[in-house]
Amino acid sequence: MDARRILLVIFDGLGDRPLVELGHKTPLEAARKPNLDWFAANGVNGLVDPIAPGVPAGSDTSHLALFGYDPRTVYTGRGPFEAAGVGIDLKAGDIAFRGNFATVDEKMRVANRRAGRIHEGTAELAEAIDGMKLGRIKVMFRAGTEHRAALVLRGRGLSPKVTDTDPHELGQEIRKAEALEPAAKPTAKAVNAFTKQAHKILKDHPVNRARVKDGELPANAIVLRGAGVYPDLPPITERFHVKAAGVAGVSLIRGIFRAVGIDMIEVKGATGGLDTDMIAKADAALAALDSNDLVVLHVKAPDLCGHDGHASEKIHVIERLDAMMGQLKPNLPADVVVAMTADHSTPVAVKDHSGDPVPLTLFGEGVRVDAVLAFDERSAAQGALGRICGQDVMNLLIDLAGRAEKFGA
Ligand code: ZN
Ligand code: ZN
Repeated sequence: MDARRILLVIFDGLGDRPLVELGHKTPLEAARKPNLDWFAANGVNGLVDPIAPGVPAGSDTSHLALFGYDPRTVYTGRGPFEAAGVGIDLKAGDIAFRGNFATVDEKMRVANRRAGRIHEGTAELAEAIDGMKLGRIKVMFRAGTEHRAALVLRGRGLSPKVTDTDPHELGQEIRKAEALEPAAKPTAKAVNAFTKQAHKILKDHPVNRARVKDGELPANAIVLRGAGVYPDLPPITERFHVKAAGVAGVSLIRGIFRAVGIDMIEVKGATGGLDTDMIAKADAALAALDSNDLVVLHVKAPDLCGHDGHASEKIHVIERLDAMMGQLKPNLPADVVVAMTADHSTPVAVKDHSGDPVPLTLFGEGVRVDAVLAFDERSAAQGALGRICGQDVMNLLIDLAGRAEKFGA
């Protein structure tokens, strides 16, 4: 068999639990979704535990698992992926933090942890900080969405074993980073120097002067949390001998793409929010199949509805996902193996990620078809794949695509 191409569609936080208000159905069961059901009915189905049964997965750890990595050994925290996702070119050994633009008073006490949810001018503020030198340590700094930002420290002998500077509470001073092990002392010192320097640069920046004039809170400080070292991951391109590209709006997933060697496809209208243009994403994924062996299509929207606790909104999003798959269906080349799954469950009743497994459908020419007729949690439990782990998904796809290497003679 000639090697085939793979389309992996990940609906973030899609899995759910039955709700009384939906007559004891899950949002997936309650939604009208003929296209999702068509793929399930013409493919093979099962349930996936992203990490392990009962373990609520983060989007970062679960994506690593779906891409075939063992998150228990490669995961070093969210900071490095967020930093990569906002466009910082990281190297193994760099130390990354997640940060916020915040408002502090003259005594460095935090008056607002998000600088009044600043959403304009952060790129200019970040630019003023980016490139700062702290002795022999180089600073890379980028703004993320709204008040969010990422900091990367590059230099020899840095350690992620330092405490957060974010006090998490109002009225408290920005904390001094402390070394959690002796080897981390130079890193803690650099972080504290960064806090001071950043404040000095930001407090008189024109963007902040204009904000104060308009009665808005100045973004005059940076609070940091979640230090992590950028992991040295063997790229997916080498592990599975595939050329890979992906579509995703949110920075965390974009950062994981970068870390594992999945090229980013930029799509106009892919926002990572509820207003994202799913049809444009589908078209971009189809186009990317022309020049890639593996294309990943990620949609964040169902997770957002789960966190918000809105069942009707989640149903509406699922019906839009259905339209997205309807756009793909007639245009898929015959030699493409499709996977539809989620990275974890975000039940409306929980408003957070849960340890419930998620449905998986594999579809393509030659794929064994089981008796499942619908794409939902209950139906998937009857599928021929049974219940598998997140890390198994890539193996199954690579095998169905005729790309697996034989184990043994
Ligand atoms: Zn997720
Ligand atoms: Zn989530």
